[in-house]
Amino acid sequence: MSDLENNLQGIEKLLAPLRAEALPHFINGKRDAGRSGNTFEGYTPVDNSVIGTVAAGNSDDIDAACNAAEAAFEEWRAMPGKERKRLLHKVADAIEANAKDIALVESYDSGQALKFMGKAAVRGAANFRFFGDMAESARDGQSLPAEEHINYSLRQPIGPVGVITPWNTPFMLSTWKIAPALAAGCTVVHKPAEWSPYSAMMLAEIAHSAGLPDGVLNCVQGLGEDAGKALTEHPAIKAVAFVGESTTGSHIMRQGADTLKRVHFELGGKNPVIVFDDADLERALDAVVFMIYSLNGERCTSSSRLLVQESIRDEFIARLVERIAKLKVGHPLDPATEIGPLIHQRHFDKVCSYFEAAVADGAKIAAGGKALDSKGNFVSPTLFVDASNEMRIAQQEIFGPVLTAISFKDEADALAIANDTEYGLAAYVWTSDIGRGHRMAQHLDAGMIWINSENNRHLPAPFGGMKASGIGRDGGDYSFEFYMETKNVCVALGSHRVPKLGK
Ligand code: NAD
Repeated sequence: MSDLENNLQGIEKLLAPLRAEALPHFINGKRDAGRSGNTFEGYTPVDNSVIGTVAAGNSDDIDAACNAAEAAFEEWRAMPGKERKRLLHKVADAIEANAKDIALVESYDSGQALKFMGKAAVRGAANFRFFGDMAESARDGQSLPAEEHINYSLRQPIGPVGVITPWNTPFMLSTWKIAPALAAGCTVVHKPAEWSPYSAMMLAEIAHSAGLPDGVLNCVQGLGEDAGKALTEHPAIKAVAFVGESTTGSHIMRQGADTLKRVHFELGGKNPVIVFDDADLERALDAVVFMIYSLNGERCTSSSRLLVQESIRDEFIARLVERIAKLKVGHPLDPATEIGPLIHQRHFDKVCSYFEAAVADGAKIAAGGKALDSKGNFVSPTLFVDASNEMRIAQQEIFGPVLTAISFKDEADALAIANDTEYGLAAYVWTSDIGRGHRMAQHLDAGMIWINSENNRHLPAPFGGMKASGIGRDGGDYSFEFYMETKNVCVALGSHRVPKLGK
């Protein structure tokens, strides 16, 4: 039996119980079918067949989940950090023990190749371990002595929080938001994306079986405009951590205004990768290919704009075209597949619409530029050349395996093109001139800059974007800044002069 056949058998076994009844919510430590009885259908992008139905959460379901999170909060925040650490490590162990199943479900549900999803589950476990280890020191503050007083700060968890996640690498992303919230002492209501609902349920159940108390992590399935909106408006929820599109971020800000929600946004990007003529071109080529064609290009940090110096343009593009021709598009459960199908037919239509837009705006298609003949949402990996930065393919987030190449003359030109976008999430610079690398980093308007590297994550480092790419940072203590309140305590050291009134 081939690896693909083996994996198909594996997924059928995992999905059989999910087909038997609608995928429920997970509220207060139990599966919960929902209050309305309404459902929606979950599809696999492999052939757009229905995987099963999913409970369509409404404001009553959100209310039940938020009340559970509120009721669980006092006990969870009072638990010693050491104990929370122990539990979060148990969750990490349980994720690792289930990594293969999580990867199969995630691949089949989202279309992301198993090659990458296997690692995504393991990275999810690493997130739980990393933030678990920080649970004991999460409340630490600063000591700020003054002349006659000593000030010190304390931190406490903000309360129950809402976590709203998108459909790209849903399991890993959810753990990235949920693990620090739990480590800080917050309880969570998670609303996963409606296009990839399955692995969120697995996370909630795995965490609960590993010992997380009832109500600490709840999951409500449903559409953004129903369950998502209700979550952002619920008075018990003190903060909303959101990952998704920039326009949805604006909606969430408006929806949370009445209850003064604290918000943290990780949004879209149109990230440049800038290749200078003095770069190690072989390594730069590897990184350019990896950062747009891995994860189907459905990746917020994908380098979707290639800025290549004119002097090496022809050679670099020719080598790029050769590499693109060798990319393996196929069934996401085939371990050899590098590019799987796009998440949903609607997203597939959006990505395909750029093939015409590119030509209409005056660019050329050097590779791909078409849908594959299949029942699924497969597109061929695409490269647009002779593009300029004002074209739609250079300004809009396509979120597929689609790269737009633009040439530049010199450093100033590269910088101007790179910053000429509404987004500011990530940027990549390839050069052997170390001074130039640092100069570019100083002037690029992006929250994260990699020099001579693909996206390489260090969990304590700040992760997030500027401009339309986000508000706030995740990672290490930055995550705790969001999930915690800081209090200052000021104590007189002696008998300083207190102002006297009315004497
Ligand atoms: P989306 O904004 O459409 O949906 C994200 C989530 O928000 C879903 O769970 C959805 O149900 C919910 N939602 C939608 N409308 C809502 C509303 N009015 N109120 C509350 N919740 C609502 O995004 P998507 O299409 O699922 O994901 C792709 C986007 O996510 C891309 O733009 C990508 O760049 C971005 N993203 C950013 C990062 C980052 O770290 N910056 C990481 C991953 C993805």
